[in-house]
This record gives sequence, structure tokens and C-alpha cells, in this order.
Amino acid sequence: MNLRAPRGTRDILPPASEVWNYVESKIKEIYKKRNFKEIRTPLFEETELFVRGVGGTTDIVEKEMYTFNDKGGRSITLRPEGTAPVVRSYLEHKLYGQSQPFKLFYFGPMFRYERPQAGRYRQHYQTGVEVIGGDTPFIDAEVITLGIDILREFKMEDWVLHLNSIGCRKCRPVFIEELKSFFKKEPVCGECSERIDRNPLRVLDCKNKECADIKQKAPRIIDFLCPTCSEHFSEVQELLEEREIPFSIDPTLVRGLDYYTRTAFEIKTRELGAQDTVLGGGRYDGLAEELGGPRAPGMGFGMGLDRFILMFEKKQMELSGNDPLDVYLVAIGGKPVQKESWKKLNMIRRAGFSADMDLLMRSPKNQMKAANRIGARFTVIIGENELEQGVVQLKDMDEGTQNEIEIDQLIQVLKKKTGEVK
Ligand SMILES: [Zn+2]
Ligand SMILES: [Zn+2]
Repeated sequence: MNLRAPRGTRDILPPASEVWNYVESKIKEIYKKRNFKEIRTPLFEETELFVRGVGGTTDIVEKEMYTFNDKGGRSITLRPEGTAPVVRSYLEHKLYGQSQPFKLFYFGPMFRYERPQAGRYRQHYQTGVEVIGGDTPFIDAEVITLGIDILREFKMEDWVLHLNSIGCRKCRPVFIEELKSFFKKEPVCGECSERIDRNPLRVLDCKNKECADIKQKAPRIIDFLCPTCSEHFSEVQELLEEREIPFSIDPTLVRGLDYYTRTAFEIKTRELGAQDTVLGGGRYDGLAEELGGPRAPGMGFGMGLDRFILMFEKKQMELSGNDPLDVYLVAIGGKPVQKESWKKLNMIRRAGFSADMDLLMRSPKNQMKAANRIGARFTVIIGENELEQGVVQLKDMDEGTQNEIEIDQLIQVLKKKTGEVK
């Protein structure tokens, strides 16, 4: 067969999928402890949402979206990111009419037509949070510290928090004009010279060498902040200091769109070799209005899970993703024994234990091998003799014992041994 997963996608198989489950459930636990609630939005949206919500001059919208017309002739896009759909949902369901702020988290695949490389996929997985309906510095600090808490929970210590404020609709236009006239006098790269007028903030994002040096000398937005933005930014910093979270102010960290405002941040790490962003986000006080809703300031982050999980493989970290099975059942004999074992399997599962048996009905030797490989705490062996006498052999791997017990007593004994019943 020469059918393969499409370029830039992949299958996540066991045991890797166990690691994924473990990482996702642990992050979910961290969210829930901070009173974040899950939101699930569709995998595709109307294209217009991303053109307005991410911005027509971004790489995402210009080059990277999976956009197609459906059979009804609507322009549909596979979601390339998580924030615009969440804000769309917040507005559609008038969540602003309920008690604020809304603290939401999401998990799921995102789609971008990018050049595939190690740890970057066209279908990649993200988790993120959005706090919508408030613009206090406490919300910014809550979101940023949550990101740090996730890294710490996974024992990642080698990170740097980059922080910036990109101002608001009042103070940023002055800065943008200043930036435009600065870059026009400098030898920026070809791509950038085209976008200076449309979106000069994107030059600060440019990865080309000739622009890297220039942007170090460029005017800095923090020198242009209005008093309100300036106060907001210093309060965010104070709150981070109170939590003893180190950060470095990075004037080139921008999100080049009008409705992104004030706080922008990225957490970078060297855990994968070259320094790379593991988690990033910021404040988007103008986004809800851009989408046609009332003012609803928000703040959030997104975190790519593919690279995050790759880090564990790289460090060969032991993640106890694999919950061992309680019981593996071995049936030694013909059809009657097999059928009886099948019934007992059901009984054991109904009592609340995780349990499995050999559905291929292989030889006793191969079943015992499977039991060892699976590493269940208990192996229950039923043979023809046992069936006649109404007993089973119970092997306890933790204690290294094997005992014959009455079949009617099996559940009681299992419960006693696992401490469910004293
Ligand atoms: Zn301002
Ligand atoms: Zn450039």
C-alpha cells in the first residue's frame, strides 16, 4: 500500500499517545485549579473570521491558511489559531452578558500550510487560555504566571520570559509613524521595504539578517506609551516580581495588528537546542470590536504541544503516562474455559478494575508472555481444573505470590489487596 498520511501530518501512536494523554491531562488539571473552564469550537470557521481576527497582512492569512469553498459555495478555513474562534464564540453567545471575566481554555489541532520540519506540522496541536471581559493588570499576570506554572510543573527550568507593551489605539499611532520614518532611512530587506507602509511593526518581527541589526536601533514602543498604558505595564511587572518571576523587557516583541494592545509576551527556552518560543500571547482589547461586537478586552496565550512534547523525548524524561492494568486474565483450555473467562473478565471490569484478556485465544505460554509484557498488577489464571473446582489462580506481581482462591471470593480479594476494602 502506498497511502500515507498527508505531507506535514502524522499519526500519534501508542506509546507516544500515552505521553500526550498524560501531558494534556496534567495541563488541564493546572487550568482547572485556577478556575479556567473548557471551550470547544469548530475545527473550521468562515474565512472572514481569520481575515478580520488575525489580520489580512499577516503571514498566517496571506500564505498559510487551508481555505476552500464548501459545496454551498462558502469560503471555509481550517482554523490556524485559537483566539479568533474563542472571541467569535464569546460574542455569538453573548457571554459578555454574564458575570465577567470568562476564563477559558482549549485543546486541539490547528492547521497551517507551512514548510514541514522537525517538530512543525501542518496539523499541529495547541492548548491555550483566553480571559475575556476585563483589562486589569491582574489578568495579564494571571495568564503569564499560568504559563510559567505549566513549565515548572513539567520541571522545565531553562526558560526566559520576554515581555513588552505595545501600547493602545491612543499612543501607538505616534510610535508607528516614528517607526515608519526610521525604517525608510535604513537598508531593510526587500520583503520589509514593501511592508513598511502597510505594517511597519512586522519589520520588528523580521528574521532576515539585514533587519536584525537595524531593529536593535529602532525607536522603542515603551518610550511612546501613554500614561494609562505605562501604568498598566509597570503594574504587570510588579505583579510578576511579587511572584518572583524573572523577565526581560524586549522592545522588538510585537504583535503587528491594531487590535493587539498593551502586554505581549513570549516564553523562550533552549531545551530543544536553538532558543525557541514554547508559549506566547498577549492582550487583544480591540479584537471583539474588530469582529463586530461590543468592547470586550481579553488576554491569552497559545502553546504548541508538538514541540513541547518533543522536549520530553529529547530529555528522555520519564513521564508516567502508562497506567498499568489491574488485571490480566489468562484462559488455559478449550471453548468452555474461554467463554467462562470472558464472563469473569466482565465481572472484574464491572467491579471497577481495569482488565483485559487475550482475545486471540493463543497458547497458554503466549498468554503468560503477554501478561508479563503488559505488566498488570494481577494475573488471574483459569484452567479446566480450576473451572471444575470453582477456583482461580491469582498471581500478585507486587507481592510475588500465587494463590488459589474461590472464584466467588475473587472480587473481594482484589479489593482487599488494592486497599479498596480494609
Ligand atoms: Zn496607550
Ligand atoms: Zn526584513
